[in-house]
Amino acid sequence: MNIKNEVSEIGPYKIVQIFFPVSGFRAVVVVDNIALGPSIGGVRVSQSVTLEEIKRLAGTMTLKNAIAGLPHGGGKAGIMVDPKDPQKEHCFRIFAQAIKDLNEYIPGPDMGSNEECMAWVYDEIGRAVGLPAEEGGLPLDRLGATGFGVAECAEVACHYAAMQLKGAKVAIQGFGSVGKKAAHFLAGKGALIVAVSDTRGCISDLYGIDVKKLTEVKDSTGSVINYRPGTVKKTEELFSEQCDILVPAANPDVIHKGNAGDIRAKLIIQGANIPATREAEELLHRKGILSIPDFIANAGGVIMAAMEHAGKTGEEAFDTISERIKKNTALILEKTFEENILPRQAAEAIARERVLTAMSYKRVL
Ligand code: NAD
Repeated sequence: MNIKNEVSEIGPYKIVQIFFPVSGFRAVVVVDNIALGPSIGGVRVSQSVTLEEIKRLAGTMTLKNAIAGLPHGGGKAGIMVDPKDPQKEHCFRIFAQAIKDLNEYIPGPDMGSNEECMAWVYDEIGRAVGLPAEEGGLPLDRLGATGFGVAECAEVACHYAAMQLKGAKVAIQGFGSVGKKAAHFLAGKGALIVAVSDTRGCISDLYGIDVKKLTEVKDSTGSVINYRPGTVKKTEELFSEQCDILVPAANPDVIHKGNAGDIRAKLIIQGANIPATREAEELLHRKGILSIPDFIANAGGVIMAAMEHAGKTGEEAFDTISERIKKNTALILEKTFEENILPRQAAEAIARERVLTAMSYKRVL
């Protein structure tokens, strides 16, 4: 792993690398900032995850938690194993023991991990969020906290992009926890889901895809490409689909200068974390495409996690997600238009101000 000694005025505060030479087990935790409280952030499980990626994601969590008004700083972890590894439970239990005394970090689910993984961590160290309902948790993926927030965000953002969500054509990249629930809640608000991709391909139907049926097909066959009717295309063709709203809900940096010019949507709601490069966001802005940054649009999951941590109910969590995401979407878009800046610049300025103010009250940070 390469460690670049890049720090901002906010973080990272602590980087912990875990390596057991005999088994070859590797993991990393980045606690970006704790001025607002102990950090919360997901545990990403992937053989290819890097420290650099975890650092960027942890930094985003600081901004996400701050702008959502949560009493938490930002953190993130990566476990470098295949998410389908048969020894996954063992890996999580080792990981949990290794971070036992790192009280500044509260693990949650992320790509490659879920509520079951959090239950293993909780069983080991009594510290995790996104737990199964049986363990007193609010299972945020099953409830669809992030997808719900994406749809709430889209409703407000449509107003600023001079269109109606009802009847808007939506393309979604990735049909996992976020993509499925975003499709469900967007369709519930009257949007037409016209294209969905996963790693094996893209299914497209301009007359609208039945989300319930697509979910059943994905769950039973493993891919959206087995859905009918519709046209099967290559995965990457999703980005050039004819649509009004694009929701990236898979990997980082999938929108870059090489494909940003092909995007035909008027509005992008970033369901995934850091799905677009800085260069791409600038290019989209110049093209007049409104792109709502990840840490505003996909905050539903962490808001629910923080509500679980505070002992609140699912109903209270959904109300809070709706209220905060709608308010923040309007707040950053007002600033965007007033100051003629990118939505991300507007959002970062507001979030950073909150973190820096909290830091100014601390003696040692
Ligand atoms: P997931 O693993 O459940 O689903 C990911 C989906 O993306 C899968 O359907 C996979 O097939 C697909 N995919 C992967 N690479 C792809 C590619 N190149 N093209 C098209 N599809 C591809 O993950 P998730 O929990 O839905 O998370 C997705 C993104 O949202 C991640 O960036 C994650 O960090 C972010 N996020 C998730 C949550 C949450 O609550 N789960 C909260 C905030 C942010």
